[in-house]
Amino acid sequence: MRIEAISVIPQVFEPYVSSSILGRAQKAGVFSFEAYDLREWTHDRHRTVDDAPFGGGQGMLMKPEPIFEAVEDVSARDAVRPHVVFFSPCGTPFTQAVAERLSKKERLLFVCGRYEGMDERAYTLADEVVSLGDYVLTGGELAALAVTDAVVRLLPGALGDEMSALDESFSDGLLEYAQYTRPAEFRGMCVPEVLLSGDHGAVGRWRRESSLRRTAALRPDLISSAGLSESERALVARLLEEEKESAGEGGAHGQAL
Ligand code: SAM
Repeated sequence: MRIEAISVIPQVFEPYVSSSILGRAQKAGVFSFEAYDLREWTHDRHRTVDDAPFGGGQGMLMKPEPIFEAVEDVSARDAVRPHVVFFSPCGTPFTQAVAERLSKKERLLFVCGRYEGMDERAYTLADEVVSLGDYVLTGGELAALAVTDAVVRLLPGALGDEMSALDESFSDGLLEYAQYTRPAEFRGMCVPEVLLSGDHGAVGRWRRESSLRRTAALRPDLISSAGLSESERALVARLLEEEKESAGEGGAHGQAL
């Protein structure tokens, strides 16, 4: 996969995308990343990318001309047309399902906003507009990095263990089960017996229950679309009942769920 980003601070991407798993994945040819400076597509001495909003108001807006030129120029550098993603708090919320969909694209081009945002006409270039969440960042670069990270780890060969992305939170519509490593007992907190038993069937059932319990407690909104069986629905109803009874004994994390 080829990922590109247009930004007024293109230098912020390199340290992240060349480190750790993303760095290794780039070296292994799983994906390539290139960031471009939007100011390359300006034509004045000051390399201006912003202007005051019509109608007045606070702050500056990104002008449409450099954005159009940049997207058109970068897009034409490869025979494969990129899937163009803009970022805005007004966009579609970014979820694992969106990451999975984007991971199937051959080429992604991210366009990062700054200032008070962009001239509305720039969004006509976007195949989609993505929001990282219900809060306002100073720019789209963190959103572009978050999407890059979530997408790349889904690409074949990006993670050392191919199975690890399959088993994680949201991959089956639920939160991930509780996990433990050595020591088996730490400061009086014991790892659930079943995980030490070597009984893979029992471990699998415990993990599914842990996943259901945690999702029911922390993200009940996910349950209805998680495709649970009849018996799992009954289990969730029972878990929620137990949860109510034990309310006040602590949160869903750290309870050996
Ligand atoms: N005035 C805009 C508004 O109220 O919706 C916010 C502009 S924000 C300060 C500047 C840029 O940061 C946006 O154009 C966008 O690219 C990026 N940005 C800010 N918050 C974001 C979010 N939650 N998700 C995705 N991008 C965001």
